[in-house]
Amino acid sequence: MTHPHPIPEDAEARRAVRPVICYPNETLPRPDLALYQEARMGAQKVAEVTVPAREAASFEVAAGQFFRITSIEGPQVGDLNLWNRHDISERFFSGKTRALHGTHVTTGERLWSNLPFLRPMATVTEDTLGWYGIDAYGGSVHDVIGTRCDPYTGHLLQGGHYHHCCHSNLTRALADHLDLPLTEAEMQVHDVLNVFMCTGFTRDTGQYFMKASPVRPGDYLEFFAEIDLLGALSACPGGDCSSEHSSDTAACYPMLVEVFEPAPGALQGWESPARNGYDRSHGR
Ligand SMILES: [Zn+2]
Repeated sequence: MTHPHPIPEDAEARRAVRPVICYPNETLPRPDLALYQEARMGAQKVAEVTVPAREAASFEVAAGQFFRITSIEGPQVGDLNLWNRHDISERFFSGKTRALHGTHVTTGERLWSNLPFLRPMATVTEDTLGWYGIDAYGGSVHDVIGTRCDPYTGHLLQGGHYHHCCHSNLTRALADHLDLPLTEAEMQVHDVLNVFMCTGFTRDTGQYFMKASPVRPGDYLEFFAEIDLLGALSACPGGDCSSEHSSDTAACYPMLVEVFEPAPGALQGWESPARNGYDRSHGR
């Protein structure tokens, strides 16, 4: 096949130009991880919810509390949504989190909210899968590159009507928590943090891939809540996402969400972040 556009003579030189990081993040406000760790040591568990397999559950976390997501019983991937508990128009912004921290998050990195809020909603304080790093395929754990499995894409590619995709699970959980009609709740469901999911992009075709999650029962990802949060977690119908999702064929397991409250005075010096300071005049 002939190329519609001629390849320039300096094509190789152009390809060899070195990349630059879009958002050097040295100037991002840094979380005081030592303070968080100390506060966590004296914290008491105040709530827990079990997320059934192929379902989602909601939970609330106050600013200054911690929440932990644990794989129990068997390897299982979870799709996490976060909202400001007082105003669900502020929600987790997977795309900007990816631009700031990279394709996967781990200890010390943060989950940022959408525009015009753009502030840290939660900080990752512990990750028992932090050892995984980036494997030979370019895969890593806890991604902010996938969206969430949903019945529309399933319908587009295979037809049919599967109702336990993460999108639908999260929709039902939010609708139940806030007593909203499903159609209203659905519009607030957003791109997720893929907890424990092992993903990347193929080098040859640039396609999104998944592989069996390295998560073992007992592994967890823990967060510090920077603002008052409403969360929903879906135990993905893909199970460990080693083969397929959007069906009932994969082995699926429940997941555990626990909330911990630090001792009074343990967070001296910490303040819940204000919403972004841009003046919003947009040049007018
Ligand atoms: Zn899913």
